[in-house]
This record gives sequence, structure tokens and C-alpha cells, in this order.
Amino acid sequence: MIKPDAVKAGNIGNILQMINAAGFRIVAMKYLNISRQQAEKFYEVHAERPFYGELTQFMSSGPIVAAILEKDNAVADFRKLIGATNPAQAEEGTIRKKYAASVGENAVHGSDSDENAAIEGNFFFSGLERF
Ligand code: ATP
Repeated sequence: MIKPDAVKAGNIGNILQMINAAGFRIVAMKYLNISRQQAEKFYEVHAERPFYGELTQFMSSGPIVAAILEKDNAVADFRKLIGATNPAQAEEGTIRKKYAASVGENAVHGSDSDENAAIEGNFFFSGLERF
């Protein structure tokens, strides 16, 4: 996902370029708004965390880009490409180092396992929307 801060800042193109350059294939992609309720569902694993309210408010504050990406070793390689959750700790050349402003508003999301990638892909896309 490209989060609302990066969409607002006009960085969709820059981020997609980095994703392409890193060798990911885009299987499905859409530009949309999610409601507060949908953000709460998407991030329900974080429901008990102190930042849950802030996170779900932020994720429903403006348009996002959701995509399914494919590559060998995609989960690990994408997490490497996006960098640490806190951009202050992200390595040079990562998406978050370049485009994220804070630990909360950190430009992108990546699934943390193949299993969660499948769940999150199904959250946003139907079978008809995959190429
Ligand atoms: P993501 O799941 O979005 O790829 P992540 O796996 O790097 O991020 P998590 O620890 O799973 O990080 O947290 C999920 C999201 O919650 C973060 O990307 C960030 O937007 C938000 N978040 C995490 N920690 C904080 C915090 N301390 N304060 C505010 N928001 C936070």
C-alpha cells in the first residue's frame, strides 16, 4: 500500500518507479479511499496497540494505492525496499528513508508474511482484478 501521506505529497509515481526498478511485477493495483471501519479491519492485529486510533484515522484520511506485487522472495525483498518502520532508522535508498516523515506517517505498507499477503490481497481485490 502507498499510504495517504505519500499520495498527498505526490509520490505515487516515484514509489512505483522504485518498486519496478527493484524487479516487482504488479499483479493488481487500485487507487481508493478506505473508511475508518475498513482501516480498523485491515489493522485489527494492532487493535490493542496505543497507536491504533491514530493509525486507523490516518489510513482513512485520504486516498491510498493498494497493489499486489509478485517476485521471488517478495515479502522479504519488499520489506528491505521499504526500510524500517521509523524512517529515522531506515537505510539510505529505501522508500521510507526517501519519502516518509514519521513512524506513523511512513509512506508505505508491506505484508509481513506470504500468508498475510494473501489475506491482505483478498481484502482489496477480487479474483477478476488480478493479471
Ligand atoms: P506496516 O505494517 O504498515 O508495513 P510495519 O510492519 O513496518 O508497518 P508495524 O509495527 O506493523 O510496522 O506497525 C504498523 C503501522 O502502524 C506502521 O507502519 C505505522 O504506520 C504505525 N505505527 C507503528 N508504530 C507506531 C507508533 N509508535 N506511533 C504511531 N504509529 C505507529
